[in-house]
Amino acid sequence: MIDCIFCKIINHEIPADIFYEDENVIAMMDIKPVSRGHVLVIPKKHSNDLLTTDDVTLHHVITKIKEIAIALTKTVNAQGINISTNNGAAAGQAVFHLHFHLIPRFSSDGLVSWPHHDSEPKTRAQLAEEIKKNL
Ligand code: AMP
Ligand code: ZN
Repeated sequence: MIDCIFCKIINHEIPADIFYEDENVIAMMDIKPVSRGHVLVIPKKHSNDLLTTDDVTLHHVITKIKEIAIALTKTVNAQGINISTNNGAAAGQAVFHLHFHLIPRFSSDGLVSWPHHDSEPKTRAQLAEEIKKNL
């Protein structure tokens, strides 16, 4: 049995603010929200992250994310929403059970977005080629 906090929430062993649940997916409020209405959408079936999750599970989750994102945006009157998942500790993942963050955004919320950098056309083309080879 894996010692996983989200599995415990899914099994109702520890409390959480779950507002949606079906056979495959749960959705709950994040305990430390980045913005008002920060929600987590989580497949019930345990997998560490997106890269190791089967496509059927991903399909269940992504279609529910769309539905919840529409309802959430309306609920908190957001002007936008970030939908993301962290894969690996280096990417900021702290809980190793796949989950998607739905973070409502407001025009004046002051949250910083990712920094972009200039890049060389040659470097970009080279990377594109290397990725293509690995697909
Ligand atoms: P990540 O860094 O992508 O793994 O995100 C983990 C998220 O889970 C963070 O945003 C935490 O605030 C959230 N979290 C951790 N424990 C709980 C909990 N018991 N209930 C709700 N959210 C939680
Ligand atoms: Zn789990």
